[in-house]
Amino acid sequence: MSDTIQAVKGMNDILPPESATWDWFEGLVRSLMKRHGYLGVRTPIVEPTALFVRGLGEVTDIVEKEMYSFVDSMNGDRLSLRPENTAGVVRAVTEHSLLRDGGKRLYYIGPMFRHERPQKGRYRQFHQVGAEALGFAGPDVDAELILMCRMLWRELGLVEGRDLRLELNSLGQPEERRAHREALIAHFEAHAELLDEDARRRLHSNPLRILDTKNPAMRALVEAAPQLMNFLGAESLAHFNAVCAALDAAGLTYRINPRLVRGMDYYNLTVFEWVTERLGSQGTVCGGGRYDTLIEQLGGKPAPAVGWGLGIERLLLLLQEAGIGAPAVAPDAYAVVPSPATMPIALRTLDALRAAGVSVLMHAAGRDGLGSMKSQFKRADASGARHALIFGDEEVARGEVAVKPLREASAAQHTRVLSDAALWADELRTA
Ligand code: ATP
Ligand code: MG
Repeated sequence: MSDTIQAVKGMNDILPPESATWDWFEGLVRSLMKRHGYLGVRTPIVEPTALFVRGLGEVTDIVEKEMYSFVDSMNGDRLSLRPENTAGVVRAVTEHSLLRDGGKRLYYIGPMFRHERPQKGRYRQFHQVGAEALGFAGPDVDAELILMCRMLWRELGLVEGRDLRLELNSLGQPEERRAHREALIAHFEAHAELLDEDARRRLHSNPLRILDTKNPAMRALVEAAPQLMNFLGAESLAHFNAVCAALDAAGLTYRINPRLVRGMDYYNLTVFEWVTERLGSQGTVCGGGRYDTLIEQLGGKPAPAVGWGLGIERLLLLLQEAGIGAPAVAPDAYAVVPSPATMPIALRTLDALRAAGVSVLMHAAGRDGLGSMKSQFKRADASGARHALIFGDEEVARGEVAVKPLREASAAQHTRVLSDAALWADELRTA
């Protein structure tokens, strides 16, 4: 026997029964997006490397050390597996002039790739839901996007405040950040001996990034750094206050965290994260903010935009921690087929039932045939189905099928007419 081949490290198979949780989650997301007027967008998983270098910023964790980049040996193109999808959405929106007739609300669900050290809640292929509102200046859509998250938590059964809480900040505008940047550099230079290697490298290229450090040894220094909030002008403050007022009116509590910066350079004004205490250092489940200059930076006609990205694996881990699972899915019925002779009629009947909305699991033959009635009933029981449909020779000869309730001891077995399957489908279907 040859050696088996294993999945790439940090990239996971999503298998039953866990995949049912994913399906359930994605169904809730699609319904949520529909109710908020967000339309689906699907962009390629591979993009030109330049898109991310230009979009996310050269001196960011993602671009410096986390991207899967390669040269296409067929034509020499420099490509990357997408580490996030805001840049890809902006590219697509610009390439297809999607904003020519006004703003667009878009969403996606799909895999992202980052070459990180795999651990719980941190993988090399992971999945995000993202929502992006392009062509809107806010602050109304900023608040709408945040409230949309809260609705998702609620519909999943999570409790905001207990399982997840919102952190909020404003990064102001580029010119405000320039003044802050000078103050920041002065602060860090005054304590140069406390900077780690990353911070020293970023001191003059991207000092704001230092605030995003995960190094506990630098926490005190970062805590004491000048706060961007104090450098904001009246307009930026008014925008921020309007977001806060809308959240207040909706009864959403949040913490203003003046040191919150995000991992990409494209953000301005509103930034936010939904964080949890239950997943250790992988505590950020969802993050987002405004990126009013990204579209222009990537060659599009200037237009404001705001969005968020949510890590599905982390959210599902959080659900697990909170003891929340997908509702159990069992078929409505299991078809017991004692002999191969009745199989064509059984299958035809199942076809009619399925068309009428009933979920039926058919007993399928193995190498040794269909197996005994006893073993078929065992399977029917294990499937969780509420009814067994018995396609016995005698019943089928009479043009009937026996319906046996499997979960209620008091309910009696009865027969139904095969040719009328659509008429009695309702009694099988779970409400
Ligand atoms: P972190 O600070 O934990 O590295 P991040 O700031 O890099 O997160 P974003 O780029 O904002 O994360 O991505 C949005 C969300 O995607 C994160 O909040 C997280 O839930 C998820 N995410 C990011 N990287 C990974 C990963 N390697 N594995 C699993 N989920 C991830
Ligand atoms: Mg990261």
